[in-house]
Amino acid sequence: MSLDYVKKLDFESDFFDLYKLSESTYGAIAKTDSMMGSNAGFIDIGDYLIIIDTTLTAKAAEDLKRASYQYTQKEPSFIVITHYHMDHIVGNSIFDKSTQIITSDRTLMNIRNESTKSFEQFNNFDPKKIAELEESLKIETDEEKILDIQNDLRFLKGVRTIKFLREPNLTFKNGCIIHGDNKNVHLQSFPKAHTDGDVIAYIPEEKVLFAGDLLFANRDPWIGSGDPEGWLSVNDELMAIDFKITVPGHGDLASKAEFYLESKYIKELIDLVRNKISAGEEPTQITREDFSKELQSWNSICFGWNINFLAEYLKNS
Ligand SMILES: [Zn+2]
Repeated sequence: MSLDYVKKLDFESDFFDLYKLSESTYGAIAKTDSMMGSNAGFIDIGDYLIIIDTTLTAKAAEDLKRASYQYTQKEPSFIVITHYHMDHIVGNSIFDKSTQIITSDRTLMNIRNESTKSFEQFNNFDPKKIAELEESLKIETDEEKILDIQNDLRFLKGVRTIKFLREPNLTFKNGCIIHGDNKNVHLQSFPKAHTDGDVIAYIPEEKVLFAGDLLFANRDPWIGSGDPEGWLSVNDELMAIDFKITVPGHGDLASKAEFYLESKYIKELIDLVRNKISAGEEPTQITREDFSKELQSWNSICFGWNINFLAEYLKNS
């Protein structure tokens, strides 16, 4: 489906390109390799301005806040957090208590158990070791290792832009609705997919869906934090929702076709790893060429991680 009607706005940011998706919704699509780490967005429903996710660094979150004010003349009433991964929550702490942070109860639990630990680790990381990582990047030639080091550095530097990790203060179990003047934002949570407790934001009046990391558009989704088979059934549910455009957690603006491709990738990867294990072969021998043609050009660091994760997961299930 063509997304030609979407308007790219003339907003200056080193971190993202900003798009107006519908009357009230805006998508901030991370520039390649920027320190933003993931996509974000905002929704103006008249009474309230709602920000979706706060990215990997304080500076990217500042730009998001600046953009949301410029286009709505409002301060944010709510932030919706889609899941606990650092590249979606670091910017929480630049917003003061007048902005409520809302998520699922499972995501709050994961933030308390997982993100807090990562925050401590990243913050206590020896600066000398960061310099060493930067040096090693200059001489490394293996493409996969380069991506790995770049990713480590992005997370280390991103998390260290904040002094404390602000937790969400409003939670829900399955879903809730933020009621605006004449538009509503539906939040819904899913127990087992990209993570345990992923949240989507859906604006039915405008057929826009903020998918968080339930969608990696045209790139390997990271499947090692949740339940890959559960994710497939969640994607079936999402594809049944009446939306025209979606802001994925990673990758460009998308539509239903990208959910379909993501599910295809997850299914094929599960089959490929399962077949290797039952043939007594190493799953690490799987290459891009083993996938359907439309998935072969995907390229991200998560490919190798996913294979290693699935090899363990399928052995234990
Ligand atoms: Zn994620």
